[in-house]
Amino acid sequence: MDAPAASGRFTGSFTQQEALPGAAIDAAVAVMRGGRLHRYNLAPGETGEVAQLEAEYRDWQGAGYCLALTSGGQAMQIALRACGVKPGDTVLTNGFTLAPVPGAIEAVGARAALVEIDATLRLDLDDLERRIADTGARFLLVSHMRGHLCDMDRLTAICRAAGVSLVEDCAHTMGARWNGTRSGNFGIAACFSTQTYKHMNSGEGGFLTTGDAEIAARATILSGSYMLYDRHGAGPSAEHFARARYEMPNCSARMDALRAAILRPQLRELDRNVERWNRRYRIVEAGLKGDARLTTIGRPRAESPVGSSIQFRAPGFSQAQCRALVDAAGARGVELKWFGAAEPAGFTSSHQSWRYLKPQRLPATDAMLATLFDMRLPLTFSEDDCALIARLIREAADEVGR
Ligand SMILES: *Cc1c(COP(=O)(O)O)cnc(C)c1O
Repeated sequence: MDAPAASGRFTGSFTQQEALPGAAIDAAVAVMRGGRLHRYNLAPGETGEVAQLEAEYRDWQGAGYCLALTSGGQAMQIALRACGVKPGDTVLTNGFTLAPVPGAIEAVGARAALVEIDATLRLDLDDLERRIADTGARFLLVSHMRGHLCDMDRLTAICRAAGVSLVEDCAHTMGARWNGTRSGNFGIAACFSTQTYKHMNSGEGGFLTTGDAEIAARATILSGSYMLYDRHGAGPSAEHFARARYEMPNCSARMDALRAAILRPQLRELDRNVERWNRRYRIVEAGLKGDARLTTIGRPRAESPVGSSIQFRAPGFSQAQCRALVDAAGARGVELKWFGAAEPAGFTSSHQSWRYLKPQRLPATDAMLATLFDMRLPLTFSEDDCALIARLIREAADEVGR
C-alpha cells in the first residue's frame, strides 16, 4: 500500500504532449534528407508536403480553400486583412480569450472592442447586439475560447442581419461541431493553430480556411506566396489573383515542408484523438460534479466539443480562497490556472492586462473570471490519471473551503 502522502499526489506533467506518430518522424527525416524545406522549393512534378497538407486539411474541414501558415496568430492577422479590416476599424471579440486574439487585431491596426461572456464562458449574444449597435463595428473575430461554442445559429443570424463579417478563431475547436457543422465553417474565414498545445502539434503553425475565392487569394499573397501561388494545394484558381497580386503586401508567414510533413500523419489521427480527449474530459467533469463547491461549465446539446482542457468555477470562493485552491491543487501535483489573478502569468491573462487597448468595462466577464479555473488535459494522461486528478481537486477544494 502506498502511504497516503504518495497516493495523494499526481506526478504527471500538464505540459507533456504525446510523441509524434512514427510516420510523422519518418516524413520529417525524409524532408530533411531532401533538403527542400521551403514550400516552393519543389523538384519537377513534385507537389510538396505543404500543398498536400492544405488539400487534406481542406477536405477534412469541409472548407472551400485552405492556406497553411506559421501560426494561428498569423492566420488571424491575415484573415482580418484579407476580409477587409483597415487600420482604425473596430473589430469585436470576446472579453475572455487569450492574448493572441486582441494581439492580432492590434497588429493590423484595428481597435478591439470586447464583448461580455455569459456564465458558460460563451459570447453573450445580447451584449454582442448592443455593442454592434453602439460601435457600428462591421467585423467580429469570435474566439471559441477553451472550446465553448456559442449558439452559432443565433450568432450567424445576428451577424447577417447587422452586416457584420464573422471570422472564427478555432484554436480550441479544431474538430468540434455545432449541430453537426464543423467549427470554422460558419464565418467568412476561420483560423486554426497547430502550436504544440493545440489539437495537432507542429511546434508552431496554423491554417486559414475560407469558402471565398477572393479572400483566399488575398490571404495567399499576404502569406508571402510571391507569384508562386499556383503551387498551392487548396487555393483558388489564377483569375482570382488578378487584383490581389498587386494590392496585397507580402507578410512572410508561410508554413515550411518540415512542419507540414509532421502534421499530415497527425491529421489522420485527429478524429480518434478527439474521442480520446472527450473520454478524459468526461471523467474529470464527472469527478468535479460531485463537489457542491465547484461548478462545471454546461455543454449545450448542439455542441460536439473537443475536451482538450476543462474549466470550472468555485463561485463561493473569495479571491484568497481561489489563490489557495491553486496552491492546494499544486501541492497535490495538479496544475490549475486561475483567470481571476491580478497579474498575468504563464499563458493566462485577462483583458485588464492588455493595456495597449482602451480600458473596457466588462462587469459580467470580470465576475465570471474572478472564480474561474482552467486545466489542460494532455493525451499523455491516462483515464485513471483523470479520475485521480478530479479527486485531488475535490480534496484541495475541501481543504480550502473548510
Ligand atoms: C493558441 C491560440 C491562438 C493562436 O495561437 P498561435 O500560438 O499563434 O498559433 C489563437 N487563439 C487562442 C484562443 C489561442 O489559445
